[in-house]
Amino acid sequence: MPKFKSVKGMQDILPEEEPVWSHVTGAAVSIARRFGFAKIDTPVLESTALFARGVGEDTDIVSKEMYSFIDRGREGEQGESLTLRPEFTAGVMRAYIENGLSSRPQPQKLYSLGAIFRRERPQKLRYRQFNQFNAEIIGSADPVADLEILLLAYTLHKELGFKNLNFQINSTGDPECKPRYIEALKAYLAPYAEKLAPTDRDRLQRNPLRVLDSKERETQPYLADAPHILDYLNDECRAHFNELLGYLEALGIPYTLNHRLVRGLDYYTKTVFELWGEGLGAQAALCGGGRYDGLIELLGGPPTPGVGFAAGIERIVHVMREQGVTVPALPQPRLFVAYQGDAAKQAAVALASDLRLRGIGARIAFDGRSLKAQFRDADRYGCAYVAVIGPDELAAGSVTLRDLARSAQQTMTRESFGAWALQALAARSALTVS
Ligand code: AMP
Repeated sequence: MPKFKSVKGMQDILPEEEPVWSHVTGAAVSIARRFGFAKIDTPVLESTALFARGVGEDTDIVSKEMYSFIDRGREGEQGESLTLRPEFTAGVMRAYIENGLSSRPQPQKLYSLGAIFRRERPQKLRYRQFNQFNAEIIGSADPVADLEILLLAYTLHKELGFKNLNFQINSTGDPECKPRYIEALKAYLAPYAEKLAPTDRDRLQRNPLRVLDSKERETQPYLADAPHILDYLNDECRAHFNELLGYLEALGIPYTLNHRLVRGLDYYTKTVFELWGEGLGAQAALCGGGRYDGLIELLGGPPTPGVGFAAGIERIVHVMREQGVTVPALPQPRLFVAYQGDAAKQAAVALASDLRLRGIGARIAFDGRSLKAQFRDADRYGCAYVAVIGPDELAAGSVTLRDLARSAQQTMTRESFGAWALQALAARSALTVS
């Protein structure tokens, strides 16, 4: 048993995972750029109050799942309560307000990539530290902004090879029509309150909308006939929703109206959605998001509409692995620099260093292993060539270049070796993608 283990629910991502991670995050970034998004990096730590305010005190995330601690204050004083971000949006909105991004051309289209922390009950595909790709369009109330967010999510998953993609979509209204719906839902559920699952009884008091997307078995029979929020939308929310659905239809993007989709965060207004697809088991979201027109104002900024989504990278990687999707290998040095003897070691180190400064990939042997062992290493690392400096080469100022695949070798001057390396290995071809 190792003395130290990773924190429960948190995992190491090992080097063999790098190709698929790099493929997924690379696709996310390149598609975001294709849509005209720019990157914003915000700190992992924010003040606890930001999430309490932005995400909502009564949400599962804020009430149970945040990693918060009291920072050290000035001498003798208690510091501020800080929290590891449990989602991106609140921090991005704080940054938008604090850095005056509202005075730049609107809307601002921003994406982020990084670690998220939630103290959830660890289970398959539910970690306490995981990674999200997040995108926001801030400063436009146009349904086309909602559409762009949906299309960004759709394009990403489609390009990664996901099958049977389908949006689950709903509207949660605005501060005018949402409360009317919540009242109707409470009135409808009240007679069944005692029969609901205990957590849902509690939700009915504190956050009634969440009862709608309850997974609790006892609650299900009472949800089938619950009122639909779409019947309560005011004209503006209805027009917004219909325009968005019209675009989806015109583009042939599959969607299903899901009356029970409300999502976990308090800040949503109008559109909420999840993207479902093959690979995560029945009815599991690949990603989700929605519109949050009141959030920036709630956090002290000017009234500003916004819409966004977040995708979990671990889940995407899981599905790709399950489905046997192959991704390109990452570039590796094609040349191994081997040596024999201490004096040659110095020359070998200098040769490898010179090549790398010229943009050419090279590995070097460590620990004074035998030449035979160095050749074995070269092969194991997948190098195509070995440059050997032994006592003879050292004396002559030369290098022996061995082509492993052809089992051919030739000795050449350092200058001709340099010229060969530049021509055969330089730039992109210095790194293999075999
Ligand atoms: P949410 O912010 O809860 O809407 O989550 C957005 C996406 O993040 C989900 O669709 C998942 O892909 C991913 N996600 C959420 N929670 C977790 C978790 N605990 N572990 C891994 N991925 C998660």
